[in-house]
Amino acid sequence: MQKSMGITLRTANRGRHNRTNQFIIMICNKAKVLMSAAIDGELTAKEEEELSDHLATCAQCRDEFQEAKNTKIIIQERMVRVKAPKNLIESIVRMTTVIS
Ligand SMILES: [Zn+2]
Repeated sequence: MQKSMGITLRTANRGRHNRTNQFIIMICNKAKVLMSAAIDGELTAKEEEELSDHLATCAQCRDEFQEAKNTKIIIQERMVRVKAPKNLIESIVRMTTVIS
């Protein structure tokens, strides 16, 4: 793990417009997928390790993950605090059924 982290850092510091950079972007995209799964608590142990490996080397994803976690907490708090009236929920369900 230490060794692979060192490699990632070194390649990240190299040129911005080469294949290496594309690889890093791909990793970031994957990290984002893993992040949303992590927030839902749906990561396998291996995926969790992959994600934390990436977050250790990528400040941008680390910030995003932190923000995503905060957002999730906020959403949960709101859901507990604000309960929509049952007839409102039913009319939303009816509307979305008509639209789709
Ligand atoms: Zn990243």
